Amino acid sequence: MLFNRIKKVLLQKNNNINYRIKYETFKKFYYLAMLSAIFFIIITPVCSQQSAIKVTILGTAGPEYFPDLSGISTLIEANEQKFLFDGGHGTNEQLYKSRINPKDINRIFLTHLHSDHYNGLADVWLTPWFLLGRTNGIELWGPDGTSEMVQGMRQMFAHDMNKRVDKYNLLKNLEITIHPLKDGVIYNQDGIKITAFPVEHSDGNPAFGFRFDYAGHSVVMSGDTTYHQNVVKYGTGADLLIHNVVAYNDQLSKLPEMKEVMKKLATPEQAAKVFLETKPKMALYSHIVTNGLGTKQGDKIIMARTRKAGYTGPLIMGIDRMRILIGNEIKILPPQSLANFPLLYSKEQIFP
Ligand SMILES: [Zn+2]
Repeated sequence: MLFNRIKKVLLQKNNNINYRIKYETFKKFYYLAMLSAIFFIIITPVCSQQSAIKVTILGTAGPEYFPDLSGISTLIEANEQKFLFDGGHGTNEQLYKSRINPKDINRIFLTHLHSDHYNGLADVWLTPWFLLGRTNGIELWGPDGTSEMVQGMRQMFAHDMNKRVDKYNLLKNLEITIHPLKDGVIYNQDGIKITAFPVEHSDGNPAFGFRFDYAGHSVVMSGDTTYHQNVVKYGTGADLLIHNVVAYNDQLSKLPEMKEVMKKLATPEQAAKVFLETKPKMALYSHIVTNGLGTKQGDKIIMARTRKAGYTGPLIMGIDRMRILIGNEIKILPPQSLANFPLLYSKEQIFP
């Protein structure tokens, strides 16, 4: 109808070729305008429902031997940027299995310097450099002692640093810029704010937890700690609160050396107290230390003890490579299938 009326007006005025062109142009603009309107009406609300923060629980284990678990490591993605928190054993492989090119990791945050939190660091630092052509160095946030640790790591891998450097693998891309951790905001760029806060981890001190804020959403990581007021302070109202937990079997629990270990981590009862006080939208256990129990039985016992301690809110056990999408709602996605997994060999490869 509208087209016909306009066509009539234009052609009545002057039935020459110019008016025909004007009519065709008007028709094109009309369709474009309609398409734009449809985009804004339909697509915009879909976009606004998308997640602001994506968390990948790369590894959930403590230092114990488990056949199918990797060391503690958590990746947070927001605003098209990636932030790696701790890098326990297997972190490099877990990134790959999560379809994340390890060469894209250049911001790493260490909660403390117990070896199980960074014994995968050298792999994340070196392998993507010479195998995947990483074109930048690493920025590393860590507690006192990080500088000495990095110095030692560079000496340990001096052979690679001396002999693998060539015109393809530049030395500058192995640089590690160290940012000492302090109590307070340690990163504030592009709307992403990361706050570090001290926690209590006995022989792991100085130890920190982290709060990650973006677009009105937040993730809080306790790091390794026993019950600590700072986790409550920063974790209150968080979208996702990731807490460590320890539970041993009865026999191990009685050993004096194990009692010492349990004192520096959080029991399910202590974690329950934190969850009760902070009321996160979702609580999640990672760095799950279950010596002598095994993963399945350990998980069951931890969950039962947390519930018995009175916390009835949302709670999940971390699973290696599980993903959590945080937006107006929180979605939990299982680890991606490894069937027909693409090989990672090209410098420019982007995962499908
Ligand atoms: Zn520790």
